[in-house]
Amino acid sequence: MPVSVRLRTLAALALLPAAVLAQTSRTRPVTDAEVARITRDAILIDTHNDIPSHTIEGYDISKPMVAQTDLKTMRGNLGGIFLSVFVDRTYVQGNHSANRTLQMIDTSMTDIVNKYPNDFIFATTADDIVRAHKQHKIAGLMGIEGGHAIEDSLRLLRDYYALGVRYMTLTHFNTNNWADAQGDENTPNVQHHNGLTPFGKDVVREMNRLGMMVDISRTADKTFYDALETSTAPIIASHSSCRAISNHTRNMTDEMIKALAAKGGVININFECEYLSQRYYDLMRPMLARIRPQMAEARRIADPVARQAAIDKVENEGYGSIPPPTLEEVVAQIDHAVKIGGIDHVGIGTDFDGSNCVPAVLSDYTKFPILTKALLEKGYSADDIKKIYGGNMLRVMRAVEQRAKELKNTPPIETTIEQADGKKPAAN
Ligand SMILES: [Zn+2]
Repeated sequence: MPVSVRLRTLAALALLPAAVLAQTSRTRPVTDAEVARITRDAILIDTHNDIPSHTIEGYDISKPMVAQTDLKTMRGNLGGIFLSVFVDRTYVQGNHSANRTLQMIDTSMTDIVNKYPNDFIFATTADDIVRAHKQHKIAGLMGIEGGHAIEDSLRLLRDYYALGVRYMTLTHFNTNNWADAQGDENTPNVQHHNGLTPFGKDVVREMNRLGMMVDISRTADKTFYDALETSTAPIIASHSSCRAISNHTRNMTDEMIKALAAKGGVININFECEYLSQRYYDLMRPMLARIRPQMAEARRIADPVARQAAIDKVENEGYGSIPPPTLEEVVAQIDHAVKIGGIDHVGIGTDFDGSNCVPAVLSDYTKFPILTKALLEKGYSADDIKKIYGGNMLRVMRAVEQRAKELKNTPPIETTIEQADGKKPAAN
């Protein structure tokens, strides 16, 4: 998790020439009143926000932002938020993933949703989100990031559903015992599975039965295709962008976007700079190589506070040296996803507070009117924008809920990973 993202955003903002803020091709004049009305009426659902990784460390969202999200910038600007129950791969060693998952669920509820009842309503369904929006409150939802959270147990998956979790990203950076990740595809000592194992397919089926959305952001491409084929409900990418624009394996190919859309799913565009922009991605790699010696030096500092401060300083200067993606580059990602997948299959998953860099022009929830204006100018209608901001996700949620209703009389899947895969998982 990045520690001082705000500094990076501010540093990057200083580099941004004023002209790039108004770069979109104007097809028609748009009034501020129109922009305000459309943004207000749309139910903006952010399908991926990592602020719980900060609240678990003691950050209070009522204090001015340390990163990209605080109460003030959310209030009045956000319809629903999927708080990311992120479980780092380091918890796999020694089987601490479930412990961390439960603590992340607790911080999402105790330090965010329940702590600020005037601002949040706990939500688990599409109807809950619509109801919260009518009451001018933010629907607080949860999604698990990293399938290792279930420690290879469908019982734990059911526990997480019971606690309110409504999506699970099948993998994080790391391949787990039943699904290949994109992050370690080329790491030779990792035991890969060629997508999902039979147990991995049972995980998807049990998610369908429960009514938990299957999220394929961060999975290997083959895992995506296996999940899509196995799932009997639409699936989502909670925070992924288009590989045709930024050639990062973390993003989706046009073929994947088409396949996802054909089964009713939604790709939620990620605002992380390197996923948005090829230009940024190309500049980032040499920058990281350049700061490597300073990083190594910073990591050698004995005092933990001084060490972290030194690491932050080096990272801030490094990331701050690259101009972040422009508004036009964000719109290009959304526009490409719409052209490939269709207007009913694109959403927003900012990855705020899980990113090293987001565009300065769209660095928090107060900035969305800027995106609304740019999309209107590009020729998108108010209805189109409502779909992208949240309407499409409401449809997917309803479809997933409906599928669970149909499967209500199907018994829980009881197989263990050993039974399904015919062997004990190798320790990764
Ligand atoms: Zn995340």
